[in-house]
Amino acid sequence: MSKVLIIGAGGVGGVVTHKCAQHPEVFSEIMLASRTEAKCQAIAGQLDRPIQTAQVDADNVEDLVALIESFKPDVLIHVALPYQDLTIMEACLRTGVPYLDTANYEHPDEAKFEYKEQWAFQDRYKDAGNMATLGCGFDPGMTNIYCAYAQKNLFDEIHRIDILDANGGDHGYPFATNFNPEINIREITAKGRYWEKGEWKETDPLAVKRQFDFDGIGEKDIYLLYHEEMESLCQNIKGLERIRFWMTFSDKYITHLKVLENVGMTSIEPIKVGDTEISPLEFLKAVLPDPASLGPRTKGKTNIGIIADGIKDGKRRKVHIYNICDHEQCYAEVKSQAISYTTGVPAVTGAMLMLEGIWKGAGVFNVEQLDPDPFMARIGEMGLPWQVVELDPDHDPLA
Ligand code: NDP
Repeated sequence: MSKVLIIGAGGVGGVVTHKCAQHPEVFSEIMLASRTEAKCQAIAGQLDRPIQTAQVDADNVEDLVALIESFKPDVLIHVALPYQDLTIMEACLRTGVPYLDTANYEHPDEAKFEYKEQWAFQDRYKDAGNMATLGCGFDPGMTNIYCAYAQKNLFDEIHRIDILDANGGDHGYPFATNFNPEINIREITAKGRYWEKGEWKETDPLAVKRQFDFDGIGEKDIYLLYHEEMESLCQNIKGLERIRFWMTFSDKYITHLKVLENVGMTSIEPIKVGDTEISPLEFLKAVLPDPASLGPRTKGKTNIGIIADGIKDGKRRKVHIYNICDHEQCYAEVKSQAISYTTGVPAVTGAMLMLEGIWKGAGVFNVEQLDPDPFMARIGEMGLPWQVVELDPDHDPLA
């Protein structure tokens, strides 16, 4: 019987709140707080049990501390934006509340995201005997836990990992992003990067393309991108020689993105419009469909997972571990499409394991540093079943 404070009432916040509400045996009291309290109230209105709502400015540590001290949660799930990671971690540290998030810190004025500033909390969390769990969404999150599970149970050594994120969903709009457009577009227009033999190698944005036949979806174009989970996985998976990340995009999506880029709409540099300064990307976010509105329109499935290639009992082994998630089923269950669902469900599962003392420790942890077995045992019944498919070790499906 524990109290959870959820910060952020966007697409993911909605799923997290629904899922916590489905488990009163663990989350006996729920508070959802965000910048706009009306959005918290709208989510609360979808539930069949009462929760508390509040307004909070999560950029402001004092505001957060006051809210935490008044509600006294046993765990805090941060699903606002990556810009708030440091302020919320600071507030949790000051109040002794365990912290969990789904995305690493991004400086609002630089198109750059990395764990450095969150890892810098390590000693303070350790000294305080408090726990911070970083990146517990799907990717990062579930994909890191698949890697940890493979390392613990399926391999003696993993040499190569490819993370594959496929969205076969169709929302019927010519162009929209499945989660926060600003974060999504920044991620995609950045240079691609992968890690090999201890070094980061850079590619031009979306320059490396392959085809992959996804179970439940079919053949899709996939593009090499930089993605944040590689930063911690390349340190935490022993014997790793290479790690890459791939995401599907349709030709239609890429064409729209190129046009927006060519006309300067994806820039974060503020420009003067009349007497006002505005960043084109922020403006674009305001005119694009709200990701939370895509839920009722989206049909199709996602398939996200990892291919791990390594050695078991002296022999080469290659496996694909993945989840298939259906957009319409997600909407029927929690009024949200699969992208928010696949992020919110691991966050709630991680928070449960922390509350139950199954995931425990003092310090700052990326999820692959925690025991994957109890998480993998629970995540299927929470809504994200997974499978392991053996692949031919001599065949490279990404050649
Ligand atoms: P949304 O933009 O839909 O929601 C963000 C919410 O945070 C909004 O309700 C917003 O308030 C609120 N918020 C923003 N700034 C503040 C602030 N200063 N104080 C309080 N609340 C604030 O994003 P998503 O739900 O799509 O994503 C949530 C998080 O999940 C992001 O960090 C994203 O990067 C992460 N994510 C992780 C994934 C993974 O697999 N690991 C995948 C997808 C997302 P308002 O409504 O007023 O704007």
